Amino acid sequence: MTTPDIVIVGGGINGCATAYQLARDGHRVVVVERYAPAAMASGWTLAGVRQSGRDPAELPLARAAVELWPSLSDELGAETGYTRDGNLRLARTEDEVDVIRRLVDDQRDAGLELTFLETNDDIRAVAPAIAPTVLSASFCPTDGHADPLATVEAYKAAAERLGAVFRLGESVRSIDVKNDRVAGVVTDRVRIDCGVCVVAGGVHANDLLTPLALTVPLRIPMVTVLQTDRVPPLLKPVLGAANADFAARQQLDGRLRVTSGATDWHGAMEDGPLPVVNPSVDSVAATIETVAAALPVFREARVARIWAGLLDLTPDALPVIERAPEIDGLVIATGFSGHGFGIAPMTSLLLRDLVVGDTPRLAVDAFRRSRFAEAEPGGPAASLTLHG
Ligand SMILES: Cc1cc2nc3c(=O)[nH]c(=O)nc-3n(C[C@H](O)[C@H](O)[C@H](O)COP(=O)(O)OP(=O)(O)OC[C@H]3O[C@@H](n4cnc5c(N)ncnc54)[C@H](O)[C@@H]3O)c2cc1C
Repeated sequence: MTTPDIVIVGGGINGCATAYQLARDGHRVVVVERYAPAAMASGWTLAGVRQSGRDPAELPLARAAVELWPSLSDELGAETGYTRDGNLRLARTEDEVDVIRRLVDDQRDAGLELTFLETNDDIRAVAPAIAPTVLSASFCPTDGHADPLATVEAYKAAAERLGAVFRLGESVRSIDVKNDRVAGVVTDRVRIDCGVCVVAGGVHANDLLTPLALTVPLRIPMVTVLQTDRVPPLLKPVLGAANADFAARQQLDGRLRVTSGATDWHGAMEDGPLPVVNPSVDSVAATIETVAAALPVFREARVARIWAGLLDLTPDALPVIERAPEIDGLVIATGFSGHGFGIAPMTSLLLRDLVVGDTPRLAVDAFRRSRFAEAEPGGPAASLTLHG
């Protein structure tokens, strides 16, 4: 094998998109993926492309990504299924109305186009299928959603056309560091010499980082996901809730795809060609009730698939996107905390900048790993894990 310039661990959206950006620049890239592309979060995801509800530190990244999404299919030469029909975040109680009102005020101050829909009639003018019991909502017309498998495949295929190599069904066991520099990676099949390694391993990133004393503090909660058979068009925007206990969207193929809030993971994951996490019956039942209370027609649909997904949740629900100061050539991208899909087109450009040593085109200071060591004990914890 020709020695690559860069090895990327992980064939999720971040690994595949970063491979594309680097291959486009003429770098020799190898992606090593334990299972298959989009086998974990990037396939389990709801795949909302959302700016609303983002932390102020992440908002510039999300806004920049939304600029990139409309032309992505053309750029990659394959459909991403991106559609921009907005995001409604629903308030179902008076307390939630206050939450949404504050969100709208704060995010409008930050420059985001966001409207407060005060009455149920206002909401149903945007989404007639919403239950009459929902009180108010925020509406961000420039949010949307995409097809996650198609998007990851589009990035992978474009990267391959530019010479990137994908080693699938292969695990990276360790990163070899000599004199504080990356010297290579060791997989369960071969050793690959390289000067740069990008760890985009999602919930498994610490398997490689902890032996290097670079652990990212991650909690791993679980989200239940249901997908229905095709139903007639009834929902254009992505739905979320003020307290993040559900999210929903109608895919372009007509299927409804809905997610629960984040709950404790029972710890079991079946290993096979693809990793499988099964939700509890209780969680499935609760998700159906929560979604149907806001979107009554959901109750009439037939369930086609049920799965659960794991989140790589950091203490402040912001990712780590950095060139590790301790080890030359090591770039870390993990901790996307349930909202890394929509921003990936921009994240991958930032990772490209970090790999080649350019000044990142957007500030990444908020995404340094050292912030966890600097955080005040008892400081603000991640309030919401908004996925969707
Ligand atoms: C249920 C759910 C709903 C979500 N909804 C949204 C949403 O609406 N909008 C949004 O923006 N985000 C959402 N997210 C989050 C988003 O999907 C993720 O942040 C994003 O997909 C992360 O991509 P990634 O490439 O970093 O990680 P992943 O997709 O998890 O990819 C990591 C890959 O690395 C591989 N890997 C790990 N370790 C190794 C190793 N040692 N060797 C080889 N391979 C390895 C894994 O097999 C995996 O395929 C959601 C997530 C979930 C689970």
